[in-house]
Amino acid sequence: MPNSGYIGRFAPTPSGPLHFGSIIAALGSYLQARQCNGKWLVRIEDVDLPRTVPGADKIILKQLESLGLFWDGEIIYQSQRTSLYVAALESLKSFGLTFPCVCTRKDISDKPYPGTCRDAIENSKTSHSIRLKTNDQEISFTDLLQGRYSQRLESDVGDFVIKRTDGLFAYHLAVVVDDAEQEITEIVRGADLLDSTPRQIHIQTLLGYATPDYLHLPVVTDKAGNKISKQSHAEAIDHTSPSNVLFKALDFLGQSPPDMAFDSDTESLLTWAIDNWTLKNIPKTRKIMLA
Ligand code: GLU
Repeated sequence: MPNSGYIGRFAPTPSGPLHFGSIIAALGSYLQARQCNGKWLVRIEDVDLPRTVPGADKIILKQLESLGLFWDGEIIYQSQRTSLYVAALESLKSFGLTFPCVCTRKDISDKPYPGTCRDAIENSKTSHSIRLKTNDQEISFTDLLQGRYSQRLESDVGDFVIKRTDGLFAYHLAVVVDDAEQEITEIVRGADLLDSTPRQIHIQTLLGYATPDYLHLPVVTDKAGNKISKQSHAEAIDHTSPSNVLFKALDFLGQSPPDMAFDSDTESLLTWAIDNWTLKNIPKTRKIMLA
């Protein structure tokens, strides 16, 4: 197993098969880990049960294998890690930094959350979410591609949900706990999550976790500028030609694969890609429209 100390990950939500946009995150995180002679882990983010489609995890893993993107170690499923999230929530509660919130989405359609329930008296009988208090200190980090990014959570986002009204843990809490527990050193993912990162750094700081490095890749959009997703009829992956898909993904990431690579098998294409992976060639933008 590779052992440079670098640990990266790909963390798909199993709401359907991978589409071209999620392939970009898979490939970018894989190449970054392999070029650093590090480990590349895969974590199935099925904490959001209503979004989880039965069997989608298996399809995603098969897709990764067909692309030649083989991971290290065991696959982790968030649905099996509730006890870790409970412990993190208990710590945050013990710091006096959480509060129950009975606001509905309709009550607070505008961001940032206005603090409606922050000082309300707890009534545990009413169904509620749990929010984490924020403050107005600036949280900044330097993304390896997108550069410096800052937010003041209280004014930009407001206190945010870490446990939902339906009893499920929220993505921000689960992702931070898992990245820390798996000792991830660098997170490579889509730039649609750039503005989530300060919230995640806030949780890391409160829980005493290290903050990993971040690299947010451009996301693929449709002609209207929306991120492609299963909902927007994302282009399904061309199962007949995994090297064709890899070629297009490398091209999207500005890596200029040689023409001959088009006909290569996935293994030689990935070998070329690991050797030639160059961060400075990735377009420094948050969105790229699929031609
Ligand atoms: N599970 C998230 C997604 O599929 C990615 C989370 C992350 O990489 O932090 O969009």
